[in-house]
Amino acid sequence: MELEGIMEIKVIKKNPIGKKPDGSTLGFGNIFTDHMFNLDYNPEKGWHNARIEPFQKFEFSPATMVLHYGQAIFEGLKAYKNDKKDILLFRVKDNFKRLNNSAKGLCIPELDSDFLIKALHKLLKLEKDWVPEAPGTSLYIRPAIIATDPSIDLRPSETYRYFVILSPVGAYYEGFKPVNIWVSKDYTRAIPGGVGEFKTAGNYAASLFAATEAAENGYNQVLWLDAVEKKYIEEVGSMNIFFVIGDEIVTPKLTGSILPGITRSSVIDLSNNWGFKISERRISIDEILEAHDSGDLKEVFGSGTGVGISPVGKIGLDDTELTINGNKPGELAVKFDEELTGIKLGNREDKFNWVTPVL
Ligand SMILES: *Cc1c(COP(=O)(O)O)cnc(C)c1O
Repeated sequence: MELEGIMEIKVIKKNPIGKKPDGSTLGFGNIFTDHMFNLDYNPEKGWHNARIEPFQKFEFSPATMVLHYGQAIFEGLKAYKNDKKDILLFRVKDNFKRLNNSAKGLCIPELDSDFLIKALHKLLKLEKDWVPEAPGTSLYIRPAIIATDPSIDLRPSETYRYFVILSPVGAYYEGFKPVNIWVSKDYTRAIPGGVGEFKTAGNYAASLFAATEAAENGYNQVLWLDAVEKKYIEEVGSMNIFFVIGDEIVTPKLTGSILPGITRSSVIDLSNNWGFKISERRISIDEILEAHDSGDLKEVFGSGTGVGISPVGKIGLDDTELTINGNKPGELAVKFDEELTGIKLGNREDKFNWVTPVL
């Protein structure tokens, strides 16, 4: 497939620009910056018409394919501002590699990730004053692609829109407070041979019912088991998951139905670098119950761009509830969180070349 070379990016500025929110009161995902990036695809021109424009409504036919069949993918990453006012991106290349992988899985034409990264830098430069500075805050970046053919014929769309919107956000969960997770026995997130490893819209729609059930039982998120044996742990809501059993750190092996998190991969790289015993393997819910009963289950924590590292305080399963580490953040969760936060803000050595400044 032919990809367009570096094309010109048109800029239409908003005037006047909006008022920035107070960094100390930010929630998640409801406030957007002044500008967005748009790029179109059709079979004749390929990806074309790159433009930064005021954040604005889309105008599409009610028959637009994505609205009916969910041919949509997205990414999620963050820009961080440190006290030297540098704006930094974390492992941005990995996000765009994953975007292309999701595109392939959903029959969406491939994109030139170097160009998309260049366009993102240009957008971020324009919106730099929107990157909040208060501890725990960041500018959340949401690239997405939707199928735009005005047709309800079931087939891959021939036209697409790629766009990027930006949202200043606070901490995902309150501080570093442990979350409670609920093991879902009746529902599954993803199946072998399905689309679980892609960041595609339908996966999240499919998770809502179980999440509601978890919430009704007093839990923050769902812990998903594998679809076939309902036995092996996969992941949590929008996080990957880690268990510390004795001196081993364990995370479920990627099987195709688990989202390959970039934070997950960072925790694995740091563990190896620090000489920790880390295993990517199948891990059953029974093994967790046994490790808890024998006192070997030291810590559980989730990983994701939204949360960073999120300690798990309680796991609910049927009528049982496991309390992990006295419902307090564990030593390793704190260590990984401090290291990753430090690297993301440019305050700790970036051994892996993960960070790129927005200049
Ligand atoms: C995005 C996501 C993650 C975390 O991935 P990161 O790259 O670490 O942000 C984990 N699970 C699901 C289902 C996700 O959508």
